[in-house]
Amino acid sequence: MKDTTSHAETGTATGTGSGSGSEIGIRGLRKSFGDEHVLAGIDLDIAKGEVVCVIGPSGSGKSTLLRCVNLLETPTAGRIFVGGTEVTDPDVDIDAVRRRIGMVFQQFHLFPHLTVTENLTLPQRRVLRRNKAHALAVAHENLARVGLLDKADAEPARLSGGQQQRVAIARALAMGPEVMLFDEPTSALDPELVGEVLAVLRMLADDGMTMVVVTHEMSFAREVADRVVFLDGGVVVEQGPAARVVGDPRHERTRDFLDRVL
Ligand code: ADP
Ligand code: MG
Repeated sequence: MKDTTSHAETGTATGTGSGSGSEIGIRGLRKSFGDEHVLAGIDLDIAKGEVVCVIGPSGSGKSTLLRCVNLLETPTAGRIFVGGTEVTDPDVDIDAVRRRIGMVFQQFHLFPHLTVTENLTLPQRRVLRRNKAHALAVAHENLARVGLLDKADAEPARLSGGQQQRVAIARALAMGPEVMLFDEPTSALDPELVGEVLAVLRMLADDGMTMVVVTHEMSFAREVADRVVFLDGGVVVEQGPAARVVGDPRHERTRDFLDRVL
């Protein structure tokens, strides 16, 4: 979707304050480690099918933001909604929340002692209680989606970094998530392997997946993202359509950052 300009510019989106209407709703999110205030009040709405790239200097809280959304970190304050469920509700079923949110990390975190297929079937069987045949069918379907069906029986160590990251994406997809979070998915890759992983992200975007992608790949952000969010000092300094934020940043901090990465 590319018709999000007005809401993207204001950042207020469709939310009513309860988070309803958006796929991900973040209200007044704060996260501190000791007296370091890493997230100092984040408000963000992400619509169903929207692709948002989060950019910002190292240490600006990008990973912490993603980790708060799937409760790998406990927010210090604020509320987060995913698909209408408040994930910060103290009574929430954390496992049920995490099942709806796929996460892909910079380091692929595959199980090294399992084959590619087993990497995809194990979480389905353990977490979703799928039977063997069902898990296998879903595994193969998602390996085909990322173009790696021919590596189904390989061990991860035999694959390139780009292939390993595509397996990690397929593993997340096999769980049938409503949203996908990517934390610098190409930062650990040799430059010649970045393209194949970005191509998979592009395909997911075209398929209508709701995605939040922390990335330094500005050309990807420009081409694929509906919106770019620039984080610095624990706050959203600037956000808007990718071409506008990257091509014509309004804040000096955004300009300084882009001058360094472009
Ligand atoms: P980014 O992903 O933008 O580089 P992070 O979210 O990883 O930034 O980290 C933001 C800040 O929070 C950094 O100063 C980091 O040291 C600190 N931080 C992150 N996680 C923890 C943690 N578990 N304990 C203490 N400090 C942390
Ligand atoms: Mg990070």
